[in-house]
This record gives sequence, structure tokens and C-alpha cells, in this order.
Amino acid sequence: MQAFYADHFVLPLPAGHRFPMAKYARLRERLARELPQVELLEARPASDGELALVHTPTYIEAVHTGTLPPAAQREIGFPWSPAMAERARRSVGATLQACRRALGGGGLAANLAGGTHHACADKGSGFCVFNDAAVAARLMQAEHARANRARGMLRVAIVDLDVHQGNGTARIFAHDDSVFTLSLHGAKNFPFRKEPSDLDVELPDGCGDAEYLDALERALEEMERRFEPGLVIYLAGADPHEGDRLGRLKLTFDGMEARDRRVMDWAWTRRLPLAFVMAGGYGTDMDATVQVQMNTYRTAVQYHGRWQSSTTVMTAATASGAMRWHNSAP
Ligand SMILES: [Zn+2]
Repeated sequence: MQAFYADHFVLPLPAGHRFPMAKYARLRERLARELPQVELLEARPASDGELALVHTPTYIEAVHTGTLPPAAQREIGFPWSPAMAERARRSVGATLQACRRALGGGGLAANLAGGTHHACADKGSGFCVFNDAAVAARLMQAEHARANRARGMLRVAIVDLDVHQGNGTARIFAHDDSVFTLSLHGAKNFPFRKEPSDLDVELPDGCGDAEYLDALERALEEMERRFEPGLVIYLAGADPHEGDRLGRLKLTFDGMEARDRRVMDWAWTRRLPLAFVMAGGYGTDMDATVQVQMNTYRTAVQYHGRWQSSTTVMTAATASGAMRWHNSAP
């Protein structure tokens, strides 16, 4: 299974900054050591043209040149530096590549970062500069339209299980019926002014495994009644975990794993390609956050294996079908 990373573009943060930058490298090290089934590839940067599928040219330019007004920079929460701008582009690039890989026969693929769902068309917010899932959805739709003109628009479901609401994504796709935005999030958590997604599920503080998994089940059922996707982008945020500083929910490791398995199983049984991204995770103990993410990869590797063996079976069936045709041909 391919997974794209950009953690070697480290953006310099002042001492004591609460963003856990080190977790990205730690996740990559553990994947390299413990899950050899994951092929780690460097992400390329998203281009201006790709970003402009979602973001305004003025905003893209201001991020590139470091000329955002101070208030806009503060809302992102990172100081500007060339490395910050580069990392933001690579983080989008990783999601683009993961989606392309998932659609192109991989079945599942991943971004070791991404899930920057608070970013809107013309501004960033809450550690999110560009909205990777939104750009990826639009680019995959454009690529699909070019390759499969007769088969209609690619419909994309963005399943956002980060504990914070995907307000940027919701706003970007507010009037776009070809992308379904689903967000399960803490009712009392950031952002305090939420944007309406196609389906929002608000969870109370202290929500545990059973309540969460039940809400997820009902949300997937409702999405299925209303929408038929051709691609799933899954924001597998680690911050609903009970060890998270910001999450306010109480999911155990087992609950988090059951959550990932439910989403991946849902996609697999419908043979929907799925790209997943890591989104938030602010564990009091950073190793707990990375452990949640490692578990997400372990589950994903199992479903990727199913995709690959089903592709092999299909290829073999096609080959034997072709053989019979040749044998019976005059
Ligand atoms: Zn979050």
C-alpha cells in the first residue's frame, strides 16, 4: 500500500508551540520499521493550478510570498516561513497522489499528514493552510472527466472523523452536489461557529466507544441513502481518542480501531476506492497519538490486501475469458 509523506519539510515553530510537529516523522519511522507492506513515497508539491481548483489566486499567492495579513496568519496558527508554504503544498500533493493511487487500482492509499479541513477557499485556520481533501476531490473529478467522459461526474464522499468539525470543507462544497461532506465531531469543540456539512453528527463531551460507533453506523446508513460515491476520502483523525488533549471524547484504542475498520469495511464491501489522511491528534503522550495512527495503517493494510487479491482474481478471470474467446474464434 502506498503512503505519501512530507515530514522532512519541517516548519520552524517557536519553542512551546502546541502543534505536535514531531509526530509526523515518528509515524513514518514506525511505519518503516513495523509495517513493510506500506511503501513510503515522498509527496510532490501541489501546483498553483491544482490549488486553484479550490483556493483563490490571491490567497495562494499570499501564502507563497508570505504576505498574508497578520490576522490571517494568526488564524492559521503557524508563523510564515518558506518551509511552511512548501509543507502546505506537499501536504496537499500527498493527498492528491493517494487519491490517484486509490482510484488507479490501489484500492487504498494514504497521506501521512493532511486532513487540513478548517481551510476555506480564501483563508486558512486552525493549523490548516490549504484544504487537501477539497483540492483532491476536485482534481480527481477533473481527471475522471477527462478519462471517462461518457461515465458522468465522479462523486466523492469526504468522511471526516476528526473530532473537530470540517467547517472549511463544508463551506467549500456547500453548493456542490457532487461531493458529500460527512462530519462526526464534538459538539462543544473548535470551531465554535460550525458550517453546515451535508451531514453533521454532533457528539457530547465524554462520548465513548459504543455511542460513537452507533452514531457512525447511522451516519454511514444515512449517507448511503442520499449519495452514491465513486471515491471516499477518509479523515482518520486520532483526536477522538481518550488520551487527546483537545478531543474531549473518550474513545479507547479498540474503539478507534473499530471506527477505522467500519469505514474501511463499508468502502470495501461497495468496492469504493478509499484514500485516508491523518488529520488531528494531540495526545498528552504523543506516542499514544502515533499508536492510534499505526493501528489505522494496520487495518488499512488488511483491506489493501483484499483489494489486491480481488484484482488478481479479476485479472486472471479476464485473461482466461480472453483465452476461451481466442480458442473458439474461427
Ligand atoms: Zn482535529
